Amino acid sequence: MKNNLTIYNTLSRRKEKFEAINPPFVGMYVCGPTVYGDAHLGHARPAITFDLLFRYLKYLEYNVRYVRNITDVGHLVNDADEGEDKIAKKAKLDQVEPMEIVQKYTNNYHRNMDELNTLPPSIEPHASAHIIEQEAMAKQILKNGFAYEVNGSVYFDVEKYSQTNNYGKLSGRKLEDLQTNTRELAGQSEKKNPFDFALWKKAEPEHIMRWPSEWSNGFPGWHLECSVMSTKYLGDKFDIHGGGLDLQFPHHECEIAQSKAAKGEDAVKYWMHNNLITIEGQKMSKSLGNFITLDELFSGKHDKLEKAYNPMVVRFFILQAHYRSTLDFSNKALQASEKGLQRLFNGLETLKKLKPTAKSSIEINTLKEKCFKALNDDLNTPILIAHLFDGIKMINQINTDDETISKEDLKELQAFYKLMVFDILGFKVEKETAGSDEKFEQAVNLLLNIRLEAKKNKDFATSDKIRDELNKIGIIVKDKKDGFEWEIK
Ligand code: ZN
Repeated sequence: MKNNLTIYNTLSRRKEKFEAINPPFVGMYVCGPTVYGDAHLGHARPAITFDLLFRYLKYLEYNVRYVRNITDVGHLVNDADEGEDKIAKKAKLDQVEPMEIVQKYTNNYHRNMDELNTLPPSIEPHASAHIIEQEAMAKQILKNGFAYEVNGSVYFDVEKYSQTNNYGKLSGRKLEDLQTNTRELAGQSEKKNPFDFALWKKAEPEHIMRWPSEWSNGFPGWHLECSVMSTKYLGDKFDIHGGGLDLQFPHHECEIAQSKAAKGEDAVKYWMHNNLITIEGQKMSKSLGNFITLDELFSGKHDKLEKAYNPMVVRFFILQAHYRSTLDFSNKALQASEKGLQRLFNGLETLKKLKPTAKSSIEINTLKEKCFKALNDDLNTPILIAHLFDGIKMINQINTDDETISKEDLKELQAFYKLMVFDILGFKVEKETAGSDEKFEQAVNLLLNIRLEAKKNKDFATSDKIRDELNKIGIIVKDKKDGFEWEIK
């Protein structure tokens, strides 16, 4: 398959043809979680978006090195380099070691990502394991004159950098606006300007996560870890940097500035950002009571949830929207996704059982081309899924003998759906106990045969009861001249 992939580059603000810097190698870095609490709905979208890209690039025969970090130090509760470290704060609260918090929530994140069927990254570096490299980069930025030291902390000098570089080129922010917006804060901090950001922070006495450096006993700034770990594992210039739109500013803007200030050139060729998930139109937050963790979503244990949702339903919900569109969570939307996914899986079941004939009355190449075209158009999964549903209509028509398919075409169509649904979109079918499917089918047929007999004996109360009770648990019964048919809703 020829690579016709185009992706939207946040930096240029347009779709660009994807061309790897050193094909067949592709380096992809995605900002991972700060592990101080259970993974939530907001973690699912970047994980699934970049899992899709990872899978598709591999399908295109690229050799992808996918790096996704674990932030276990330096992410403070407030973006202005003030306040406690998120991990240390939680550790104090739970009266455990910070690294116990890191381990606990890294395990939780991994389990949830596995449930969502995202492939593990090739490398998953921890910020706390790269302190020396972060010190070295801070030193280089200082040496190049784009940072300053004050009271044992090192800050990036945004104003100085802006004299020769465009700070704000990723997010579209202007320094003058930042100056106006942050003026009232000026003078309250040791920074030259409120929009400067920490490369190294001197630890306050109560700060437990600390390392020695030539400036102070302290810890690295949050933005520095991603500049360091991405280039350490992918080289000074790499292909793709991804993350959620919420990270575009300041996190990614600062990453660009750091790399340029340290090495004289941009590290990243394509910047990609997935849009955020809202909950019934609102931002997800603990104070609004709409903060839903993935464990709660999968178990249904949250006041906002009408029921439990299978991880594959959540995956479908995320992929049926384009990754750059906003996506609003609601029970209604999730239940629509549940139906959609079931329809897709039912179609695959029918596809498995189709009987070929000598000739095809249908044409499958057009369908395949349309699907690839959608994927190549900046991973347009909603269009891709719509085409897959069109294909399922065709599959159903073959099943009812309104269309025909040859043996070769059937084989090709089955392989194509496997590729799209399982390998690229990354769905999985829950493993069922061996033979349980068949036994279930036999049990439903048994009930419906009893119903037929009841009808014959004019015992309509029993016959209706069986139909209605089956209906309640989602099995729809259709009466036929010579018996019955049933399907799962
Ligand atoms: Zn990052």
